[in-house]
Amino acid sequence: MELNAAERRAVFAEINRGAVSHAYIIEGDRGVGKRTFAADLARAILCTGGEKPCGHCSSCRKCASGSHPDLHVYGADGASFKVDAVRGIKRSVSLMPNDGDRAVYILHDAGSMTVSAQNALLKVFEEPPEGTTFILVTEKKELLLPTVRSRGRVIRLNAADDGTVRASLAAAFPRATAAELDEAVRIADGRLGVGMAVLKKEGKAERDSALKLCGAVYGEGSRYDLYGAFLSQTKKREALLPVMDALTEAARDVLVTKLGCGRCCLLPPETAEKYAETATARALYEILEAFAECAMSLRRNTDTGIAASQLCARLTRAKG
Ligand SMILES: [Zn+2]
Repeated sequence: MELNAAERRAVFAEINRGAVSHAYIIEGDRGVGKRTFAADLARAILCTGGEKPCGHCSSCRKCASGSHPDLHVYGADGASFKVDAVRGIKRSVSLMPNDGDRAVYILHDAGSMTVSAQNALLKVFEEPPEGTTFILVTEKKELLLPTVRSRGRVIRLNAADDGTVRASLAAAFPRATAAELDEAVRIADGRLGVGMAVLKKEGKAERDSALKLCGAVYGEGSRYDLYGAFLSQTKKREALLPVMDALTEAARDVLVTKLGCGRCCLLPPETAEKYAETATARALYEILEAFAECAMSLRRNTDTGIAASQLCARLTRAKG
């Protein structure tokens, strides 16, 4: 079983027939598997073997190890995709491919491109050099200018049913136990990428940190305990951001439990119920907003210490 199997088959069949589009736009919610799909698509386009992606040719192997000279991967720098990055892409596009006659550019977070960056990109989009393919990855295609959107083939990735997610996770993590798979499937809620992150070690460490911090937020502790808990987390921006995303998800769980309007994604349901009892729906909503905004300001490169202090001040106000 494979995620978005029909869509995958159609696109890969076209590529095997030699019909490669100049631009693909991969759209889907966070964690739904966009990165994996974009990487597979690039591999298929650059593959020199029989059934593409063959997985064995030198091109497929270079893609897998991240060393293919004609596979260029870009992403947002801080909060948005800057026009400078697009200028770099344009310079690179004007050069000939190194290995074969094709070059692929994957642009992650393409939806965060500023309007001027999108306009700059539009020029290469309109007249791309022979053999060049762009893969734009975004949560919502509406974030792209209509002129950019209309020039690419849009592939929408949907959340999968639990059975499909479980089968994909079991294949990717053959050593995971049944209990670990159960937990990952519950948290993933149809999003394979989220399930993958749960089973990877890093994902687990972040979730554990988030669960511990939840105790400080929703528990009985004093304001000083709260500051202590968060300020001890500020040493590494790269580590704090995923923890903040996990906290946002946990706060959402508590709120939907309070309102009785959805299922828990990250917290065990009994924990969410316990936390939901500690405050009014309005306060729980403010806590959720405080986490979401802290994550946003970390993405904007705000100093981690400042972001954490602002967060604690908001949490203290929310708790009243
Ligand atoms: Zn190959």
